[in-house]
Amino acid sequence: MKIHEFQAKELLLAAGAPVPRGIVVSSPAEAVKAFDQIGRPVVLKAQIHAGGRGKGRFKDSGKDFGGVKYIKNRDEVGTVAEVIFKYPLVTKQTGAQGQKVSKVLVQDAADIAREIYLGMVVDRAVGLPVVMACAEGGVEIEEVAARSPEKILKVAVDPNAGLQPFQARRLAFELDFKGDEVPRAEKIMHALARVFLDKDCSLAEINPLVVTPKGEVLALDAKMTFDDNALFRHPDIEALRDENEEDAAELRAARSGLSFISLTGNIGCLVNGAGLAMSTMDIIQYHGGSPANFLDVGGGANKDQVTEALRILLADQRVKAVLINIFGGIMKCDIIAAAVIAAFKEVKPRVPFVVRLEGTNVAEGRKMLEDSGLNLTPATDLTDAAKKVVAAAKECLHRPG
Ligand code: ADP
Ligand code: MG
Repeated sequence: MKIHEFQAKELLLAAGAPVPRGIVVSSPAEAVKAFDQIGRPVVLKAQIHAGGRGKGRFKDSGKDFGGVKYIKNRDEVGTVAEVIFKYPLVTKQTGAQGQKVSKVLVQDAADIAREIYLGMVVDRAVGLPVVMACAEGGVEIEEVAARSPEKILKVAVDPNAGLQPFQARRLAFELDFKGDEVPRAEKIMHALARVFLDKDCSLAEINPLVVTPKGEVLALDAKMTFDDNALFRHPDIEALRDENEEDAAELRAARSGLSFISLTGNIGCLVNGAGLAMSTMDIIQYHGGSPANFLDVGGGANKDQVTEALRILLADQRVKAVLINIFGGIMKCDIIAAAVIAAFKEVKPRVPFVVRLEGTNVAEGRKMLEDSGLNLTPATDLTDAAKKVVAAAKECLHRPG
């Protein structure tokens, strides 16, 4: 789960990291009021979960500013805020349709001498959380990381002990902080590591961490992603969820206990078990197709879940064919066949379906599907299933109308 910049900053502030003063608003009129309250030049920052806002643009607005706009004069606040609230913001991470903005952070504009990158992720290779830092932070960090990966400093952190003072100090020196800046930077590193570890983040990022000409050190931007499997022990974080920012199909699936991820292809997949779902996606790609989603109905899916899963799959207009790939282990094939038949009676399928069943009671399951009279193409094994569904999707694409 992701949260907004202003929420991430509140967590950092509570952990002892200084952030610029900011007020969250929901309309242009409120933005003007916030400007007056701050009483200095501000930056209007569109609150969306996607990154790259500064370099983004508002779709069809004809304006040449993005989701982070410096404003000096009161007159400008209302007109700029109107654009932000009216047009979807398109960034590298939103996709071409962009993301509607419903909250704007009116933030005290900082004087910036230097921009630094500071982040923390779980590094699977090391098996530990790792603090990453780069003296060349800011909006070009992806380019720096691609061009000169050696400039990214990495420090592994023991999750029980936390970030150690000597580790923070070493990073502060390597990042070229001077004098009073050193303890200020260390304090922010400790705050970031504290929030990351205490709240079960999978990513926490301050980019940029800025040094002002007076030597203050501030977290100017903040991004956080939390481990969904740990959210049950952080109701305070769960409360920060903004459903407007989440994929509607994924939300709907989560409510029915289905693991669903939207992808960009045209073959819908209904599979039981995450490992089988992964190999299903692989084999579809291998045979020249492209999955529209990852959908794991789990080990004990019932009729209602299968019905809801089919509804979700078929609601996606890009889906041109569906592969149901079930291994009857915990769940027996005849039970899943009954669920599929029942689901089909409720959800009228508009695209071809290929079904591969294997496992306990497979003969009974296959016979039930055969006898049902439903328009399902049976497959004998994974390869057969993948070839058939890829062919069905292609045919559907080429059919006129
Ligand atoms: P994003 O990473 O989504 O583009 P940021 O908050 O990092 O958004 O903003 C992009 C850039 O805008 C920053 O690198 C910084 O140069 C500038 N910026 C952001 N907030 C402020 C601020 N409060 N004062 C001055 N400049 C800012
Ligand atoms: Mg940023």
